[in-house]
Amino acid sequence: MAKIMAVNAGSSSLKFQLLDMPEEKLITSGVVERIGMKDSVFTIKLNGEKIEQITDIENHSVAVKMLLEKLIDLNIIASFDEIEGVGHRIVHGASVITNSCIITEKEIAVLESIIDLGPLHLGPNLTGIKAFREILPTVKQVGVFDTAFHQTMAEEAFLYAVPYEWYEFYQVRKYGFHGTSHKFVSARTAEIMGKKPEEVNIIVCHIGNGASICAVKQGKSVDTSMGFTPLEGIPMGTRSGNIDPAIIEYMSNKKNKSVKEITNILNKHSGYIGVSGISSDSRDLVKASSEGNHRAELAIEIQAKRIADYIASYYVYMGGADAIVFTAGIGENAPTTRENIINRVKILGAEIDSERNNCRGVERLISTDSSKIKVYVVPTNEEVMIARDTLSLIHN
Ligand code: AMP
Repeated sequence: MAKIMAVNAGSSSLKFQLLDMPEEKLITSGVVERIGMKDSVFTIKLNGEKIEQITDIENHSVAVKMLLEKLIDLNIIASFDEIEGVGHRIVHGASVITNSCIITEKEIAVLESIIDLGPLHLGPNLTGIKAFREILPTVKQVGVFDTAFHQTMAEEAFLYAVPYEWYEFYQVRKYGFHGTSHKFVSARTAEIMGKKPEEVNIIVCHIGNGASICAVKQGKSVDTSMGFTPLEGIPMGTRSGNIDPAIIEYMSNKKNKSVKEITNILNKHSGYIGVSGISSDSRDLVKASSEGNHRAELAIEIQAKRIADYIASYYVYMGGADAIVFTAGIGENAPTTRENIINRVKILGAEIDSERNNCRGVERLISTDSSKIKVYVVPTNEEVMIARDTLSLIHN
């Protein structure tokens, strides 16, 4: 048995799960928030109990040290070397790192060279890696990349119709994100169906605060809705998804704002929150919509329409689909959203069973027995994927 730590480092946060592998048993999980600010919050869950501590945590290294010492204090580990590997969720590997790998100086240099491609996330990811390397210098660090699963897309799917030199010299192309989730969920769905991944075509709808759709043909990603950045695709909690790019210059002139400011609005103040003016949280929108708020309803319907558009497009692109799967916060927990989307793609032969669909956070078939395309809810588990790849790489 090996203890593996799965880590997701953000600019001021660090989420972690400690798992016993290969059993995939969760030992403990938690999060450090407000790193680098006053009153940082350290939370750890153990045996269903939540332990919280508020203190100033200066930087990620201090957070890592505190986390490891906490594991000893709580008798979860006896010493640091019980942790055999640390797996990091990394947002971007560009076209350079196309698979999970052990992180050495070489990979750190590569990540530093592509930081421009995902500055909001890659910088914090690197900070997390460096913090763990500093505190656990002999423990292997593994990178698991959000972009890796989508490296199987064909040129016709990943290239934009812009001057080719933008791709050649500036790496402008579709990368796709949420790859770890799409891979886990599609593989699990094939397993539930009693098939090998190579035997089925699956459309995965990862709908959370961030959201993307993925066409998984015979186990491989052939297209996905997020692009060069996570801004492309369907509208999300705060992101616009696809818009006419000419709107950027137009609104920049109208509002006297820079391209950077307008892009920030598209990333942080659009989608659910932009259309509804109420909230980026789907629960608030469902409530407001049921009370008759038109803009809340619109925010939901615009997203549902766009998701249905992608499902139909991927159905055609793959030459048919055996299953449509819902995952992530909204996909796993919002039956009405699922029903709305499936009703929009009825023509393809997908039929929801309202009774089966009345579930939250569980793995379940939610289509009728006569539905041509099976529809499932499959809770995602990126941490398990990270731990699986970490385990297999550290023992190679
Ligand atoms: P994620 O980014 O995957 O954590 O998903 C966050 C989104 O999931 C938010 O919009 C939440 O409103 C939504 N969500 C979480 N739990 C529920 C629930 N029980 N019902 C509806 N939406 C939910």
